[in-house]
Amino acid sequence: MTIWTCATCAIEHADTATPPASCAICSDDRQFVPASGQRWTTREELAGKGYRITTSEIEPGLHGITTEPELGIGQRGLLDGAGERWLRADQRCIVRSL
Ligand SMILES: [Zn+2]
Repeated sequence: MTIWTCATCAIEHADTATPPASCAICSDDRQFVPASGQRWTTREELAGKGYRITTSEIEPGLHGITTEPELGIGQRGLLDGAGERWLRADQRCIVRSL
């Protein structure tokens, strides 16, 4: 199965044999679906175009995870290292790719 990524906002959707009919984020009134219609991409296609996952320490104990170059609506994941346990602060991003 393929994990489908919206080509506009870069939010991943469930892995299915065919792309979803619509993107939950872009279908919201605060976002948009391009006039050309909904498009999807895959991790393999993005990697082929040079996109990669990067991590950085924002402050001691707080790490950011993002895609470079910036992709979609520029979301990022935040990991807060609380003792020995990592908490995912923002799960909209491509944290599952790590
Ligand atoms: Zn979208």
